[in-house]
Amino acid sequence: MQVSVKIPTRKEIEPLGVYVPGKPIEEVKREFGLTDIIKLASNENPYGCSELATQAVVRGMEKCALYPEGTAPELAAKLSARLGVAPEYFIIGNGSDEIIRLLTRSYIAAGDEAVMADVTFSRYETNVLIEGGVPVTVPLIDGVHDLAGMLKAISSRTKMIFVCNPNNPTGTIVGRSELLAFIEQVPRHIMLVIDEAYYEYVSDPDYLQTVPLLASHPNLVILRTFSKIYGLAALRAGYGMMQPSIVQELIKVKEPFNSNRMAQAAASASLDDPAFAADCARRNEAARTNLVAELKQLGLSCYPSHANFLMVKLDRSGDDVFQSLLAQGVVVRAGSLLGYPDTIRVSIGTEQDNQVFIEALRTILGPGGQSA
Ligand SMILES: *Cc1c(COP(=O)(O)O)cnc(C)c1O
Repeated sequence: MQVSVKIPTRKEIEPLGVYVPGKPIEEVKREFGLTDIIKLASNENPYGCSELATQAVVRGMEKCALYPEGTAPELAAKLSARLGVAPEYFIIGNGSDEIIRLLTRSYIAAGDEAVMADVTFSRYETNVLIEGGVPVTVPLIDGVHDLAGMLKAISSRTKMIFVCNPNNPTGTIVGRSELLAFIEQVPRHIMLVIDEAYYEYVSDPDYLQTVPLLASHPNLVILRTFSKIYGLAALRAGYGMMQPSIVQELIKVKEPFNSNRMAQAAASASLDDPAFAADCARRNEAARTNLVAELKQLGLSCYPSHANFLMVKLDRSGDDVFQSLLAQGVVVRAGSLLGYPDTIRVSIGTEQDNQVFIEALRTILGPGGQSA
C-alpha cells in the first residue's frame, strides 16, 4: 500500500517550474514515428568537437577510477596562458550553469535583489529565486539589454547584476562603449556578472573585450563555456573569471569534484586545437548570413544575432509553428518558453540542416512566405 505524505519543500522552491530543455531527438522520433530529425533547439555545435578532445576523453577513461583534481589546475593554467589572466582568477564548473548557481549560492540571501534583462537566460532568475532572492527584470529594447534602465533598477538591496552578451535568446550584443560606461557606473559593492557563453562566435568590432578589465574592476565576473563553440555540451565544462577572493568563496560551496576528469581533459585538449573553433565560427557566420537571407525571402525577420542562433519573428503563434516543424522532424525552440510567444528560436545548423529547416518553414507558411 502506498501512503502519500507530502514533505514540504523550502518555500522558495514552491513556485519554481522545471527547466524545459530543447526536445531530445530520441523523444521526437518516438512521438512522431520519424527517423530523420534535425535538432536546432539548444545552440549545440553541429560540427561536433575537436578530434583532440575525443582522444583526451578516451585517455581520461583509463584513469576513470580515480577522482579528478577538484579545481582543474591544468585546465586553469592553460586558460590562464591563453587569456593572459592569472590562474587564481579561474574557477572551472560543471558547465557555466554551475558557476551561476555557485554565485547565487554564495552571494544571494533572502530578499537580495538581482537585476537582469527580460528576456534573458532563464537560469539567472531561477537560481536567484532558489536562494530567496528577488529578480528585478528590465525589458530589452529591440532585443538588446537596456543598460540605462538596468542602472536605474539598482536599489539598496541590489547584490548582483547579470548581463548576457550576446544575449540568449535574442543573439544581440550591447555596444562596446555603452557596456564600458555601464561597467564604470555599477557601484563596486554590486557583483556584475557578464555571461559570454557565445563569446567565440562574435566577430563585430563593437564587442567589448572584458577580460582586460578584470584587474581594475573587483566586482566583475566573466562566464564562458566549452558547451557551445567547443562542442562539449554533454561533458559539462564551463569557467568563470573573477577576483581570486571571489573564487575562494565559490570553492567553499562547490562540490569537491564538480568538474569531471573527462570534461577537464577534453576542455584542455580543445584549447590545443584553436583551428577547430575558428573554423566553427567561420562556418557559423556564413550559415547565419545565408539563413537570415532565406528567412527574409519568406518575409521573416530576426533580431541581429552575433551568436549561433536566431530569434525569428512571426505574425502568428510560435508554439504552432514549433509544433508544425516538429511534425516535419525539425526541432526548434518555441519562443513562448523564452518569453516571446510570437517567435521561434532556431540554432544555426550546417548549411544542409538550415535548408531542411527553411523548406519545412516554407511548407508551413506557404510559398509566398509570411506576408502572403
Ligand atoms: C548555454 C548557455 C550557458 C550554459 O552553458 P553550460 O553548458 O552550462 O556551460 C550559459 N549561459 C548562456 C547564456 C547559455 O546560452
